[in-house]
Amino acid sequence: MYDLAIIGAGINGTSVAYEFAKAGKKVIIFDMDGVASGGSGAAGAFIAPKFSKEGELKELLNDAFIYSMKFYEQNFPHLLKKIKLFHSTTDEESSKTLEAYKKNTPLKMKKVSEDFLNTLSPSAKEYAHICIDAGIVNAHAMCRALCKNAKYIEQKVKSLIFEDDYWVVNEVYSAKNILLATGAYDAVIKEPYIKLSGVWGHRIDIKTSTKNLYSIHRDISISPSFDGVIAIGATHDVHYHPQRTTTAYDPKKGRIELLAKAEKTIKLQDVEIVKDFTGLRSGSTDYMPIIGSLVISKETLASKNIRYEIESSNTSSYTYYPNLYMINGSGGYGFVLGPYIAKILKEHILDAKEISKRLSPDRFFTRWAKKSF
Ligand SMILES: Cc1cc2nc3c(=O)[nH]c(=O)nc-3n(C[C@H](O)[C@H](O)[C@H](O)COP(=O)(O)OP(=O)(O)OC[C@H]3O[C@@H](n4cnc5c(N)ncnc54)[C@H](O)[C@@H]3O)c2cc1C
Repeated sequence: MYDLAIIGAGINGTSVAYEFAKAGKKVIIFDMDGVASGGSGAAGAFIAPKFSKEGELKELLNDAFIYSMKFYEQNFPHLLKKIKLFHSTTDEESSKTLEAYKKNTPLKMKKVSEDFLNTLSPSAKEYAHICIDAGIVNAHAMCRALCKNAKYIEQKVKSLIFEDDYWVVNEVYSAKNILLATGAYDAVIKEPYIKLSGVWGHRIDIKTSTKNLYSIHRDISISPSFDGVIAIGATHDVHYHPQRTTTAYDPKKGRIELLAKAEKTIKLQDVEIVKDFTGLRSGSTDYMPIIGSLVISKETLASKNIRYEIESSNTSSYTYYPNLYMINGSGGYGFVLGPYIAKILKEHILDAKEISKRLSPDRFFTRWAKKSF
């Protein structure tokens, strides 16, 4: 019997595996295609804050950025490269936002070298930019390291049954708690109020004689050179979903698009493609991550008393799946949020700490139920 069975071995699932194993719990983790085979394996895995105007997402991501940089540095220093992040805007409007951000942020500005600026295209120099100390992690190795103390099973989870007081996964493995960490891939438990958008992304590792010392963040991500290799990635296709199409993704077309976008920022010489990585990133409808227990919509709606409670948004009388949790909706910030939200979830499950209503899945149930009646 496992304390926790996790479905999905991306950065979210593996970060929770790490927290539970550290707390002495027995963890089993499933992935249908391999550790970091989804969005996490495609990520450039920059650890960066959100350079935007005020707002709860910006606040959350700034806290998560500071927490996760320390977390990776303390626990996995060999998988983190501390690097300067150069973020540049692409139009007047976002330049204004960035200038406002720079005035208010407690983060220290770093000087950008002239040599680096000379490698940039005129348009990348034209608009506002910011340079701060940030990081980049090795996405695949990080996910593997995070779940190293869990039992890993490469298998698609097709069935989850709750019997007596525990869950049975695929009719074989039993666990006290279940965590759904399946990203933008088809849900194992389908609830109509959970709506996740999947954005297909593609990253290429290229060999190039151009040397780059910065993480570049524009409408595309460009990594620093490591042993002559630079990673270029973007999430750009809102229509392609590998589980809902019979047409294979065309990596050749994707490479051309990525290189064309990269050229708008930096001049790259002698380019040779080394490897492609693809995957979906998932986002929630309000862009905030989703962490916590899932409401059983049918049972909750069937209760007359609870219908009344829905109107007053009192979640205490909702019916929840027993000992079943979700972690998802990290958008383009999975590696920034992963360690931070995994800790919140661990403290909720093991220490009964409350999760903010702005993060828990029931916020979507309340809105959906109100619309349904
Ligand atoms: C090109 C690209 C670049 C990005 N760059 C960055 C970046 O620089 N910094 C950053 O922080 N974030 C970045 N992101 C976003 C980040 O990758 C995502 O936020 C993150 O991967 C989400 O992690 P996850 O664990 O929720 O989902 P995923 O990594 O998608 O993991 C879900 C896993 O669940 C598995 N699964 C699904 N269903 C089942 C099932 N039924 N049974 C078993 N297994 C199942 C899948 O195989 C998959 O491995 C990028 C994303 C992309 C695509």
